[in-house]
Amino acid sequence: MHKVWFVGAGPGDPDLITVKGRDLIARADAILYAGSLVAEAALRWAPADCDVADSKDMTLEQINTWLITRAQRHATVVRLQTGDPSLYGALIEMVQALDAAHIAVEVVPGVSSAFAAAAAAVESLTLPEVTQTVILTRVEGRTPMPDGESLTDLARHRSTLCLFLSITLLHKVKADLLAAGWALETPVIVVHKASWPGEEQIIRGTLADIRARCKAAHINSQAMIITGPTLGARTWETLARSKLYDATFSHRFRKVKKPAATEEPV
Ligand code: SAH
Repeated sequence: MHKVWFVGAGPGDPDLITVKGRDLIARADAILYAGSLVAEAALRWAPADCDVADSKDMTLEQINTWLITRAQRHATVVRLQTGDPSLYGALIEMVQALDAAHIAVEVVPGVSSAFAAAAAAVESLTLPEVTQTVILTRVEGRTPMPDGESLTDLARHRSTLCLFLSITLLHKVKADLLAAGWALETPVIVVHKASWPGEEQIIRGTLADIRARCKAAHINSQAMIITGPTLGARTWETLARSKLYDATFSHRFRKVKKPAATEEPV
């Protein structure tokens, strides 16, 4: 059965692709990769005779045509996407074209850059009694934001924000978050090339100074912005303990002797 596999390549470090994704690369007849971000190193597992192309100079129509013609010829075609294919990856535009051509598709998830950035900075995006919510979004650029999704609207939740595609718009991030009542001292981290061996850079600052810090470090692309109330918790002296590890808290794998707590595990 001929199939196009949309594989999340992960954030950059070739070791962060899933085992399933790597196995697919190893048996692929054809691979189309997103050259601007996916490390070519991810292709090191491809068979020698694999038909490999970079999509960085292709239009969506050219990408769709490439995938359809290869899938008509070959059993295993891989479209290698950066991070996870479900985020800002034009997945549905490609899937619709393949559906129309009656070609089967399957998606293999990947490690998103949002999580690679949190990992690089040793940050938790959720903390008990601080925030239990993460919003993955972007600042309005050429793609307009739907109603109710302006950064100011979303920031009113006071949850953690992971901002994709927004590094050149830090002035807007600041203005929008201040408009939502966030303090100038709110911590912000910017991670450039999260997980890329030898190239990752972590910039820590606040809403007040993060733009200047990024400018000084010449960071203007391939960067994840994370802000919110949990950042820096590693050095906090008071931290509400996660109920999951609380000795008085029952969950599926560990029952306490005292009357069972009614709350759900964290
Ligand atoms: N599907 C991808 C996102 C693609 S949109 C994912 O799940 O990560 C491209 C944006 O992702 C970039 O503008 C940047 O904000 C972010 N990004 C991708 N790779 C990154 C990396 N290694 N480090 C930091 N940000 C990255």
